[in-house]
Amino acid sequence: MKRIAVFCGSSKGFNQEYAQAAVKLGDCFSKQGIGLVYGGGKIGIMGVIADTMMKNNSEVIGVIPGLLKHEEVIHTQITQMITTKKMSKRKVKISKLVDGYIALPGGFGTLDEIFEALTLGQLGIEDKAIGILNTNNFFHHALLQLDHMVKEGFLKQENRDMIMVSDSIEELIIKMRSYKAPVLSKVVNTVAS
Ligand code: AMP
Repeated sequence: MKRIAVFCGSSKGFNQEYAQAAVKLGDCFSKQGIGLVYGGGKIGIMGVIADTMMKNNSEVIGVIPGLLKHEEVIHTQITQMITTKKMSKRKVKISKLVDGYIALPGGFGTLDEIFEALTLGQLGIEDKAIGILNTNNFFHHALLQLDHMVKEGFLKQENRDMIMVSDSIEELIIKMRSYKAPVLSKVVNTVAS
C-alpha cells in the first residue's frame, strides 16, 4: 500500500489514548513506507498524525476545500496541500490518491468520510480496503448499529464485512493488505426489494 487516507477528528477527544493512537499510526505508516492523505488540518488528531509523520520525514498530503482554508486550522508544514473547490471534490481527489482508508475516532466529518468510502465499496465503484482503528472501543456503538441494520434487512452481511476492525494498528494493516472486495455489488443484488 503506497498511501492510505486517514479520516479522524478535528478534535482530540477527552481521552489521551486517541491522540496516542494517532501518533502510533503515523509512526507505523512511516516504518512501513506508507504515505498519509488526510483533510489538511493542523487541529485535533488530524494534526497529531500529520505532525508525527512530518517529524519522521514521511509523505503527508492534505486535501482541503477552499472554504475550510482558514489560518487557524490549515496545516502549513506538510509535503503537499491540494485545494479543491468543493467538499465533494475533496473526496474524489482523496480517493484518486490512496489504496485504502482508515478511520480513527472523530465526529460527523469522520463518519461522513468513512461511510462514503463504504458506500462506494458497496456499489462496486471502488474495491479499496477500509479499516477502523477501534481505540478504546470507540466505535462499539456504531458497529452495533451496523449489525442491527443487517438484522433488519437494510445491509447485506457481506457489505458489513467489508469493514476491517481492530484496536491493533499492525493487525489492522495486515488485514487491509490482504483485503478482497465482495464480488457482487449492491446494484445487482439488493438486500430486500
Ligand atoms: P470531525 O470528525 O467532525 O471532527 O471531522 C473531521 C474530518 O472532517 C476530517 O477527516 C477532515 O477531513 C474533515 N474536517 C473537519 N473539519 C476540518 C477542518 N477544520 N479542516 C480540515 N478538515 C476538516
